[in-house]
This record gives sequence, structure tokens and C-alpha cells, in this order.
Amino acid sequence: MGKIAANIENLLRELPPEVKVVAVTKTRTAEEAMEAYNAGLRLLGENRVQELSAKKNLLPPDVIWHLIGHLQSNKVRQAVAAASVIESVDSLSLLEKIDDEAVKQVKHIDCLLQFHIASEETKQGFGIEEADNTNWKEVAASLRAVRICGVMGMATFTEDMERVRREFRTLALIFSNLHERHFGAMEFFREISMGMTGDWPVAVEEGSTMIRVGTLIFGERIKR
Ligand SMILES: *Cc1c(COP(=O)(O)O)cnc(C)c1O
Repeated sequence: MGKIAANIENLLRELPPEVKVVAVTKTRTAEEAMEAYNAGLRLLGENRVQELSAKKNLLPPDVIWHLIGHLQSNKVRQAVAAASVIESVDSLSLLEKIDDEAVKQVKHIDCLLQFHIASEETKQGFGIEEADNTNWKEVAASLRAVRICGVMGMATFTEDMERVRREFRTLALIFSNLHERHFGAMEFFREISMGMTGDWPVAVEEGSTMIRVGTLIFGERIKR
């Protein structure tokens, strides 16, 4: 068995079966992504639209592509064409643009609301207060081709796992508040995408339904 398949087997042995795995293939070759596919994974994630589109053309059609990186409005058309799930929706205007474009392309797109839970300034996302101050029920009702399927967030990049845990707990709380106040009638609102290579066990303990892992599966990434 190859290294990638072995890494996936080890991960799946430890992960509760109901938690989904998004294999993050950014910077990896199509061959490496194909090894993850052959090991049984069907959810693949990229943080850049162009790289996602390019890899989509080289992989089997039943891959469910997740866009996990910041989406600029001038790339929405390409993102809607290539992705099935956009996890990185960080503004209402972006959500509207995705919906408009999905209507045009006669396509359905699943989106997650990305919340800024980390202490780093650089991480994208809705502010925590926007979870409370937005009429999400009205927002959801205005969408024609987009379903809001849950939330996504990234914890601070730190060794301090108690801090990471608090941040994940915050995201899980945002999810349950949104579920209770706005999305209770929508059975598809059920995902909490949190946890990466360095922190996925904590994320799962705090209620993650979907982890996004790259390094753990494919090895160290060459930084760019
Ligand atoms: C790169 C990336 C990941 C995966 O990171 P690893 O540490 O390699 O597991 C997860 N989520 C997002 C948004 C990313 O950009």
C-alpha cells in the first residue's frame, strides 16, 4: 500500500464514522489526488478556484469538489462552474453573487458560512456578532440555487490546544444558535466544518461533522 492510502486508512480508523473527510489537495499533483480517490475519498478540497478547475478536469466526475479558500467576486463564475460546495462564504454579497451565478448556470451549490473564530487578523470570515445580527432566515429564503448547509471555521495556528478548543466550541455554539433561531426547518443545515491536520481530534471532540486535512494525508506541503 502507498503512503497516501496508508495515511488515509490510519485516519479513518481513528475518526468516528459519521465525520466526513475533505482531502485538501492544494499544491498536490493530480496523481496524488487520485491516490486519495482510490483509497475511497470522494470529497476533495482546494483553496484556489483555478487549481480546483484544473484538477477537476483530471479526476473522475464523481469527486465532490469543495472550495475552502477565500473567493474573490471576479472568480465566482468559475467557482460555481467547478465546485459543488463553497465552504468559504464570508459575506452576504458573496452569497448573493454565488446564487445569481448558480441560477445562470442552472446549478445547485451548497455553501457554508465561514466564521472568523481565530485570533489572527488574516483569517477570513463573518464576525461572530454577524451570526446574531443577521436575519439568516430571510437571507436563506432569498436564495434560489444555493443552500446554506452549515458553518466553517479555522482555529488559530498555535500549539495551545485549549485556545483551539475554545475557538471550535465557539463555532459549534454559533452553529447551534443559527440552527435554533433560523435554520431548524432546513434539514440540510447540519455541517460544522472544522479541524485540520494539527487540530482535528480536538475539532471532532467539539462536534465537527467534517474535517479538512491535507498534510496528514499527503505529507508536508512545500510552502508557496
Ligand atoms: C490548507 C487548508 C487546510 C488543510 O491544512 P492541513 O494543515 O494541511 O491539513 C484546511 N482548511 C483550509 C481552509 C486550508 O486552506
